[in-house]
Amino acid sequence: MAGNKRIVITGIPGVGKTTLLSKMIQRLKANNPDCIVVSFGTLMLEVGQENGVRDRDHLRKLPISEQRRLQNIAAQRIATYEGMILVDTHAFISSPEGYYPGLPGQVLSIIRPTNFISVSARPEEIYNRRMRDTSRNRDRVTIAAVKGDLDVQSGMISACSVITGSPVMHVLNSEGKVDEVADEIITMMGL
Ligand code: ATP
Ligand code: MG
Repeated sequence: MAGNKRIVITGIPGVGKTTLLSKMIQRLKANNPDCIVVSFGTLMLEVGQENGVRDRDHLRKLPISEQRRLQNIAAQRIATYEGMILVDTHAFISSPEGYYPGLPGQVLSIIRPTNFISVSARPEEIYNRRMRDTSRNRDRVTIAAVKGDLDVQSGMISACSVITGSPVMHVLNSEGKVDEVADEIITMMGL
């Protein structure tokens, strides 16, 4: 039943997850009034601010142990929601120690996602979107680094699927096509 779905949307920064989700929720509310979107990072930030975290772009620079603590609290909050929930998050975070999973086994066992959506786009488009977006404090990046991150994304999301036994839908958020992609996801998933 659509009402019980816990859908996790991932993709590398600037690929368009938040933009896509804002389109999807507008459409989904008509048939699923209880449907909500939550930003995993915002939940982590709310908890982290009590301990001096400045903004969402500061989160990925915290020690791994602190990121893990905040992740588990955010996951527990998500798990309490009973209606259809769409979770805006990352399959991995680039930390000074290496790639850290946004959805480690512990988090997956708390949230128990029913579906994953992995959002992608052409590396050049992702690069340009990050450059245009002045609302965020994004790390400096090259197109080669974006390509590398897309490979890591693919591996991380496959691992999530295997651990949970839930399917992954791969979508391409092409330039200027957000409305079409939002409709495609809703149709394909029968939401
Ligand atoms: P983050 O992980 O950093 O939160 P995100 O995946 O949520 O990033 P958005 O903030 O949704 O990415 O989008 C990044 C930028 O790209 C925004 O300026 C947005 O307007 C633009 N954008 C998103 N999708 C498209 C698209 N299909 N065509 C053109 N521009 C897009
Ligand atoms: Mg976002």
